[in-house]
Amino acid sequence: MIFKNIFLSQSAELAFIIGLSILFYTCKKSPEEIYPYPNVDEQLHEYFKKFEEEGKKRGVNVDLIKSEVHGSLTKINANSIVGICNKNTTRVIIDKDFWARSSNSSKELIIFHELGHCYLKLPHSSNATHDGVCLSIMRPGNGGCLDYYNSKTRDKMIDELFF
Ligand SMILES: [Zn+2]
Repeated sequence: MIFKNIFLSQSAELAFIIGLSILFYTCKKSPEEIYPYPNVDEQLHEYFKKFEEEGKKRGVNVDLIKSEVHGSLTKINANSIVGICNKNTTRVIIDKDFWARSSNSSKELIIFHELGHCYLKLPHSSNATHDGVCLSIMRPGNGGCLDYYNSKTRDKMIDELFF
């Protein structure tokens, strides 16, 4: 009887520990831990991830973790500049006020543009339609053409980025 009790209590303890481990493991598995980008502001993670995914869809292996591209949100004190790729430090810098007021589509456009510089090493492209609509994500920042980046134009413009 005594032995049986001990055995039962040990089993219960073991089951408890296993249960706790599973619970702990499940809780820990947040998206942040599946896709960690060291030195990248958390608010930029989903767009870094999308950039990798869009590259992969087009046969380009993009590994932003390995390449150590950094990313931060900060106040950019320069007129009309909302994003920068610092080529020396491979750091994408986005103006935090611009970020706060922007749509998901604008956020994606600016991140893809800066990663175009910082990761793909692309220069600007003033490719535009005859009526002045930008055809490239790598359009110059000085307003040479008008952005028309949305669910209809997105795929074609991302194709242009990765080819
Ligand atoms: Zn640029």
